[in-house]
Amino acid sequence: MQIGFIGLGHMGGPMAANLLKAGHALTAFDLSAAALDAAKAAGATLAESPRAAAQEAEAVITMLPAAQHVKAVYLSDDGVLAGVRAGVPLIDSSTIDPATARFIGEAAAAHGNPFADAPVSGGVVGAQAGTLTFMVGADEALFETLRPVLAGMGKNMVRCGETGTGQIAKICNNLLLAVSMIGVAEAMTLGETLGIDPAKLASIINTSTGRCWSADTCNPYPGIVETAPASRGYSGGFGADLMLKDLGLAVDAARGVRQPVFMGALAQQLYQSMSQQGLGRLDFSGIIKLYGNH
Ligand code: NAD
Repeated sequence: MQIGFIGLGHMGGPMAANLLKAGHALTAFDLSAAALDAAKAAGATLAESPRAAAQEAEAVITMLPAAQHVKAVYLSDDGVLAGVRAGVPLIDSSTIDPATARFIGEAAAAHGNPFADAPVSGGVVGAQAGTLTFMVGADEALFETLRPVLAGMGKNMVRCGETGTGQIAKICNNLLLAVSMIGVAEAMTLGETLGIDPAKLASIINTSTGRCWSADTCNPYPGIVETAPASRGYSGGFGADLMLKDLGLAVDAARGVRQPVFMGALAQQLYQSMSQQGLGRLDFSGIIKLYGNH
């Protein structure tokens, strides 16, 4: 399939490379020359604008930092909608707010293009390995059309509902992830300070009711899980500043519908504090540093 791909960063770069490996032809665009060079080396044809990347495409995929970039790439004079043929499906895999996803979906529909929000879980490692999970907001027919394209970049595709629901799933999951990580960090440091061996405490938690991914796979206490970022100085993994961005999306979306998110708002403040301390590039499990010297 001929695919227009826009946004070739940490996630989009390896996703595009996997689509090429799966046999698709790619016309790619990014603002960064280095990202374009990498895409060219992987076999993509380069375009000079989102509009040009979309012109010959049979599907368009975007993987951009935030809502303002997504709006610009789809709606500007040189944007995707200015170039794409009617009927071609558009997929945005960026993590943005559900309202913007619906807004872009409506603009695409007015142009005759089906649109799906399809944010991902799995991080850079999943993008490189082609094992991402896609949370898709699309009608059933569109979802089935997109499935083979998404299969070139991921392992699991879940249809969450209509446009915008993929983003809802993503921000709710990440809100919970932030809260659970903070909870594990708090319990581990309290246990240590009170005098239990942290490894013993973790093994109890992991066979008890406190068990969760933040405890058994990505434990924030150094040395508990060998493969966790905590055991390599909190490098790699999911950056705290990205978590802060997703918490902002969740808290803003909650405000829009007057839904209290007590824990999400507190988690946002804690990650803001981590970021203010210059630790935003560390894995988000580094939040344990707010509790002491780890
Ligand atoms: P990134 O900053 O590495 O890449 C974004 C790319 O978009 C950059 O190459 C940038 O040059 C390009 N770009 C920005 N504005 C553009 C424009 N107007 N036209 C064309 N290109 C433009 O970001 P990333 O880590 O790849 O993340 C992308 C999205 O995926 C974000 O929404 C992020 O929240 C989400 N996400 C990231 C991860 C992760 O672990 N990095 C995990 C899940 C989801």
